[in-house]
Amino acid sequence: MLKNKSSLYRSYRPDTFSEVAGHKNVITILQNEVKNNAFPHALLFTGQKGTGKTSLARIFAKAINCEKPVEGNPCNDCLNCQLSNQGQTANIFEIDAASNNGVDEIRNIKENVSILPLGGRYKVYIIDEVHMLSKGAFNALLKTLEEPPKHALFILATTEFAKLPATIISRCQAFNLQKIDQTSLINRLNFVAENEGFVLEGKAAQEIYFLSEGSLRDALNYLEQLMIISDHELTLENLQKLFYLAPLSEKLQLIQDLLNNRFQTVIEYFETVEARGLDFNQFTLSLMIILKEIIEYKITNDSRFLTYLEANELLGWPSDIDGYFAIADCLAEAYKKSQGSGLNFNYLLISLLKLNSVKPQLTATETIKIAPSKLSQKVVNEAEYVTPTLTMIRNEKLATASSISMTTNKTITNAMALNTLVAPDGQARKEITKLLDQCFAINQNDQLIDPSKAREMIAWCDGKIIAVSDCEILIRFEKIWATNYLQHCLQDDVYIAKLSEFFGKNYKVYPIDETQFTLLKKDFAFKNKAKTLPIHHHDFEEVKTFKSDDLDNNEIGFETLVKQTLGEDCEIEG
Ligand SMILES: [Zn+2]
Repeated sequence: MLKNKSSLYRSYRPDTFSEVAGHKNVITILQNEVKNNAFPHALLFTGQKGTGKTSLARIFAKAINCEKPVEGNPCNDCLNCQLSNQGQTANIFEIDAASNNGVDEIRNIKENVSILPLGGRYKVYIIDEVHMLSKGAFNALLKTLEEPPKHALFILATTEFAKLPATIISRCQAFNLQKIDQTSLINRLNFVAENEGFVLEGKAAQEIYFLSEGSLRDALNYLEQLMIISDHELTLENLQKLFYLAPLSEKLQLIQDLLNNRFQTVIEYFETVEARGLDFNQFTLSLMIILKEIIEYKITNDSRFLTYLEANELLGWPSDIDGYFAIADCLAEAYKKSQGSGLNFNYLLISLLKLNSVKPQLTATETIKIAPSKLSQKVVNEAEYVTPTLTMIRNEKLATASSISMTTNKTITNAMALNTLVAPDGQARKEITKLLDQCFAINQNDQLIDPSKAREMIAWCDGKIIAVSDCEILIRFEKIWATNYLQHCLQDDVYIAKLSEFFGKNYKVYPIDETQFTLLKKDFAFKNKAKTLPIHHHDFEEVKTFKSDDLDNNEIGFETLVKQTLGEDCEIEG
């Protein structure tokens, strides 16, 4: 049983930077700032809940007031440190913007900020969930941030970076705290378990990491509940009983049954899950994470993508990823539509059974919009301390692509593609190809020369420009997911605006995949032979879906034909 009365998350709040789980790069920067006594008047920590934003803020506040800091860490021994640890200091103020709109608090700060600190060197204002401040409070805060007294420091923390006014962000040194990595989180879990007199089974630790999705707060809550029902050993078996979790082996079996069309088995399995009281959301989301890992691994063959699974568990699994994507789409649909409906497992089963009758489609009717990352360049990303290689950029694209639903409501039609193909501007194609090549250019060490540009244009990586007309770019990708990914980005107006800046012109962009490209080649050849190729239209609009019914199956040397007709203006080689 548990020794501690208060929650684990509270009793194991770190007192020094060294005890914080994860965020090594951010911590190094903060420690150096303490050591050199050089830091801006406002810091901003962004990141999901439970990643340690408030802990870092408190430790930093303590460290800069500490009388004898050790390597940038607070000593926890001097009077200031002790007062801070007991919550008795008169120099550190914590404001929770979530509990009220903050107007009074900010006004209070404005009135008192100029008064010198007592005992310590700095007055530190920690404003948690700062995005919840009202407009009035933000304006008042901005005034204070513009001309803060030398002895004042503001530490802002938020889970919702996008909701902050740009004027506030631009006055802060911003740190983007990523999810806590598996090793750091599991190390911390083991430390806490051991300290409480328990032994944490490796597989149980891994499952807790998986459940908590990188949030230490959630992870410690799971650990705590597991401790309550355990004597000494914290086992995966107990964890699964406690939280009604389906074992990994069952989930893998389900995916295999679906891939192999064993729908009878799937139906029988679903008859048991509800009776066992499994949690629907957890079940669906964990299946999604498993699929994401499989897809990433199958495309890259890189076992670094496997955190939850092991490579030998996936031996002999199909390497064609379309089947996995189809299952993921069903899961996403069922998850979204089941929220609040109570249909849950029944809906999921029905959704999955559709795989029986419908082959994976090139396009679907539903759109889930996720704007490309708008995080400002100013944010200090932990990953940015390594100069990225092209492989890293590719993997990043893949990871982003596979974590969002790849369906889109706008289909590139054959007619659109033809419209570009019949009015090719060879010079423009060369220039655009060159622009893109420059984006992803690498130096001798295989590092990107312009990583930020490459990230911005990540969706174009590995695409091949087929043709450029006066108003359109036709680009092809080998993989459907890459095609869908660019198409997905193109739904966002901000992204479109960035593109026209990049290309110096407004282009409509038509991404197509290999299948569409093959159909296009046939269509072009057929129409060229029949002399029915369309005339190029400026501002071409077309709403029909991509069709191949009317195509001649007769392959008549498309490459030769295009070369004869259009010369070197198109790129049609495989
Ligand atoms: Zn101290």
